[in-house]
Amino acid sequence: MKVLVVGGGGREHALAWKCAQSPRVLEVLVAPGNAGTAREPKVHNVEVAADDVPGLVALAEAQHVDLTIIGPEAPLVLGVVDAFEARGLRCFGPRRAPSQLEGSKAFTKEFLRRHGIPTASYATFTRETFDPDYVRRQRTPIVVKASGLAAGKGVVILDSADAAIDCTLAMFGGQFGSAGDEVVIEEFLPGEEASFIVMADGVHVLPFATSQDHKRRDDGDSGPNTGGMGAYSPAPVVTPRMHERIMREVIHPTIRGLAADGMPYTGFLYAGIMIAPDGTPNVLEFNCRFGDPETQPIMCRLRSDLPALCEAALDGRLDQVRMDWDPRAALGVVMAAGGYPDGVRKGDPIEGLERAARLPGKVFHAGTAIGAAGKVLTSGGRVLCAVGLGDTVGAAQREAYALVAAIRWRDVQFRSDIGHRAIARERA
Ligand code: AMP
Repeated sequence: MKVLVVGGGGREHALAWKCAQSPRVLEVLVAPGNAGTAREPKVHNVEVAADDVPGLVALAEAQHVDLTIIGPEAPLVLGVVDAFEARGLRCFGPRRAPSQLEGSKAFTKEFLRRHGIPTASYATFTRETFDPDYVRRQRTPIVVKASGLAAGKGVVILDSADAAIDCTLAMFGGQFGSAGDEVVIEEFLPGEEASFIVMADGVHVLPFATSQDHKRRDDGDSGPNTGGMGAYSPAPVVTPRMHERIMREVIHPTIRGLAADGMPYTGFLYAGIMIAPDGTPNVLEFNCRFGDPETQPIMCRLRSDLPALCEAALDGRLDQVRMDWDPRAALGVVMAAGGYPDGVRKGDPIEGLERAARLPGKVFHAGTAIGAAGKVLTSGGRVLCAVGLGDTVGAAQREAYALVAAIRWRDVQFRSDIGHRAIARERA
């Protein structure tokens, strides 16, 4: 069979690499891919942008693609799955309507409230309905969120009502474009964060191995927020009891609620959870896709055939399949360009990729491009994700950092403590 993976980041490199391992898959196309997917056996890049919905449909038809897997949220929110279905093409991901779980925080909060799924208390405002006195009546800190897609930057935690009001007005003023036309103002929740990723077929759910990412740029979880500087699996914070609670109190009610609302959910679903001190799993956000960089370590542990799992989901028979896992831990360290997450340098030659390829573990590409004479160059903020495996998270961390040590370019930055919480738990 022929598979198309849509996107060009580290997540898509890991998905394409995993699909290519399936004996049933003859070829994997990646649109647009990166320098890593370009060099993967059985994998070919195609120059179609990830959000060019008509271009993707045309590609799938012309190339007789049997299964398309969507990586990023933008094409999902634009309705890429609906467009594929209209042409009778098999495409794994949620349709446009349920993709609002990521595309609109106002939609999600109203959905959660209506279905009794735990989440922070909140109010939604537009420029016309905004009531600064509402903010003054709330406790601080308080959280202000642009409702639409804001590339992970639309959430701000404020220490005073005045700062929160200013922040809200800046969002209405266009700070995040139309993503800030609606603003959700919500209660600040203390606790420990966990991510929880499943695949769903409209009715049934299969959870992936647990994982945890590090969002802050610098060691000790300090510095600016990023798309993610590393991730590991399994995540000890999700104990078997917590796993059961998240499935029962969050995941199943969400899948049931969407079906009851007439928008059944098929695809990867990522729940960002804040585990309250009393153990309540509060939903912070949903993503309608796999996490990046969580995909990279999780795909390294997945032993099952990924295209077969996606096909089972498209056929509504996820209850008849299972996922098999490598019992070892996997840990991925993101190597980012100088300046990330703000303005980043591009075009720096990356040294040491051949050396790293001879070591155990796997280096996934994200923001890379092939330059003159086939040299791999940086071309984005997050450039690589080096994944190690080991019997413990600590052992996986050592293998990952051996890969990192083999690779360099000008002004490369990475954290030196990915997995520190899990490793502290292992030591205890
Ligand atoms: P979100 O995109 O909604 O997940 O928010 C991004 C990050 O902001 C989360 O990963 C949390 O660290 C933080 N955050 C969001 N909402 C809250 C909240 N209600 N209370 C505390 N922290 C939050």
